[in-house]
Amino acid sequence: MLKGSNPDGRINKFVPKKRMKAIQLRLGLMVISISLIGLAGFSQEDTRLKAMKIHREVYTIDSHNDTPMSFGDADFDMAERHDYLNGGSRMDFPRMKDGGLDGAFFAVFTGQGPLTDEGRRNAYERAKATFDNIYKTAAQHADLAGIALSPKDGYRLNKEGKTSMFIGLENGYPIGLDINRVQEFYNLGTRYITLCHSKNNDICDSSTDKAGPVHNGLSDFGKQVVEKMNSLGIMVDVSHLSDKSVQDVIAASKVPVIASHSCAKAMCDNPRNLSDELLLALAKNNGVIQMCILSAYVKNPEPNPARDSAENTIRQKYGDWSKLSPEDQKKARSEYKVVRQKYPEALATVSDMVDHIDHIVKIAGIDHVGIGTDFDGGGGLADCMDASQMENITFELVKRGYSKKAIAKIWSGNLFRVMNEAEAYALKQKK
Ligand SMILES: [Zn+2]
Repeated sequence: MLKGSNPDGRINKFVPKKRMKAIQLRLGLMVISISLIGLAGFSQEDTRLKAMKIHREVYTIDSHNDTPMSFGDADFDMAERHDYLNGGSRMDFPRMKDGGLDGAFFAVFTGQGPLTDEGRRNAYERAKATFDNIYKTAAQHADLAGIALSPKDGYRLNKEGKTSMFIGLENGYPIGLDINRVQEFYNLGTRYITLCHSKNNDICDSSTDKAGPVHNGLSDFGKQVVEKMNSLGIMVDVSHLSDKSVQDVIAASKVPVIASHSCAKAMCDNPRNLSDELLLALAKNNGVIQMCILSAYVKNPEPNPARDSAENTIRQKYGDWSKLSPEDQKKARSEYKVVRQKYPEALATVSDMVDHIDHIVKIAGIDHVGIGTDFDGGGGLADCMDASQMENITFELVKRGYSKKAIAKIWSGNLFRVMNEAEAYALKQKK
């Protein structure tokens, strides 16, 4: 058990004085309102206050965002508040504080390029540059945030009133064919690796590669990578993997695995989501699936041909993303943002997403579900558009009768259980 916490990951959280006063004032008002309505029942506002209180008391972590893609931009500052409506990011330290989000896994993301020596080398260079940017951001804002390597670090930083920056490697492409890189990325703070992204790579088959499977799941090299990750204490992330790859990973891994940002296929038929069969396998493995709040994974979108064609034009203009220079990637990103503003889609809601949680709890149990926003990588719901709105998720859970204990598991307890198990297994190997 960790100091200052209980087994569910609950902890006495740092609440700024001003905020505490506001909470106390609102609690006072709640007492008045309860006496006004007598014992007739709790109002919506009371439920909101109960949710706020729980949200501030449990440790909250988002297991996946792609915000580090902006860290290298000269005009991007994590300590500044950004406006996603004007093309800004969905995540920064001030809005994480507003939304009571204590920590997050910041992704070192590499788009899948060609499986050539040059492609692998470029991916490695890009990944290294992103690690650099993450460390620079943490150093620049050491008063606001710190790098976290374990749940224990997360709790400690939280007590200090700081945001925890965990690191995940999204796509094992930068490993190339060099198994020693797994250790190198571990040394740089990586605590999970999403084995592939939208296309097949040297490690495994992807769920969205139009070419179909090339390894029939996890490759032989992939098996070595999983073994190495187990031995170091890096969690294996099965988001983006083909169903067969997920099955192979679960069979190969000596410890529970995670899906850092995926949803339930039974609720939304998307190749990025996990079938009930895989959810059961994940539960048996004692792993966890972290709900991605990307609208298209939560609910099938309404057709939007004007937007599709505008996005297609940008896709054709820029070609292969992995071959673009950082400047061109930035240009393409801002063009996508303009199109998305011009042709907005009807986004799924927090309630739609919590339907997935209900389903997973029914199929796999409360110990196997969490939250991974995918902010700045496509994530965002109608009523959870950025890090400042995370409380809406807890509100919906409270409305549906989830206990504080269950909510603590969803917000961090389950993910941290897997992380601790991965670390404990690695320690045992070293002895
Ligand atoms: Zn992703």
